[in-house]
Amino acid sequence: MADQYAVIGNPIGHTKSPLIHGLFAEASGQDMSYVAIEGPTQPPEGFAEAVRAFIDAGGKGMNVTAPFKLQAFSMADECSERARLAGAVNAMKFEHGRIIAENFDGVGLVRDIEVNLAQPMAGKRVLMLGSGGAVRGALLPFIAAGPRELVLANRDVSKVKALVNEVAADVSLVACGYAELEKMGQFDLVVNATSASLTGDLPPVPSTVFSTTGAAYELAYGKRLTPFLRLARVAGVPVIADGVGMLVEQAAEAFAWWRGVRPQTRAVIDRLTVPLD
Ligand code: NDP
Repeated sequence: MADQYAVIGNPIGHTKSPLIHGLFAEASGQDMSYVAIEGPTQPPEGFAEAVRAFIDAGGKGMNVTAPFKLQAFSMADECSERARLAGAVNAMKFEHGRIIAENFDGVGLVRDIEVNLAQPMAGKRVLMLGSGGAVRGALLPFIAAGPRELVLANRDVSKVKALVNEVAADVSLVACGYAELEKMGQFDLVVNATSASLTGDLPPVPSTVFSTTGAAYELAYGKRLTPFLRLARVAGVPVIADGVGMLVEQAAEAFAWWRGVRPQTRAVIDRLTVPLD
């Protein structure tokens, strides 16, 4: 029987993961199946039971999506440092009865920015908006990319300050509110990791943060030109992108972790891309 993998979430109908992993498996000749599972949100132990049932049926690994990333973290027997800081897990591997957990969202995001968009962060000024799960997952990979300065801005400033206090960084790391961005000048890269775009909203970011030689990245995907990307474009930012590449790159990280084979991502990103205009 083919090795079994799945993504678990609720709702799960929107997920692109079976398509992405199916394309990876086909292109790399891996004998595996990958399905979507709608995990129960009630009773509280329903998620853990669904994971255990998948393991008992011979499952080798799972991706985890909303709203279960925190529950998956609490189920793990082992987890990586970045998953620990995120307090959230988006990939699990089942080995010898143990659950090994990872968070590949941040490395997928960095790879999309640095490799696919050719925007290396080393020595650059980088601004990331938000302080939720996506920012927590991205923080260590962003620090590892070696920016000259990394500024995190959030509406709830106490949240982002607390996050910054959790990490030991050898780069300049600053937490602030949006109003303070007014006097911080331009950034080479501005990343919208808030969920504002999901409701068509714009985080209160001043257009003075954008650079006409820089890049702007929106984590949400498939929403075309979000208010954030529109603001960046009007400000003259030459490189603007949404999070479809991040989605595919985090999947590629999980695939390589499970199968020992790194899949090509370009064709899959192209297939899933909804043009911004
Ligand atoms: P969370 O719910 O954990 O965090 C939401 C964050 O957005 C908080 O910092 C919140 O600020 C901020 N926020 C929400 N609305 C607004 C607004 N109107 N103005 C300013 N800030 C706002 O979300 P996640 O971190 O999980 O997800 C963030 C985004 O990343 C989503 O769009 C999600 O779809 C996307 N994502 C994309 C992935 C991909 O593969 N491309 C993977 C994972 C996430 P406050 O704390 O002040 O309330």
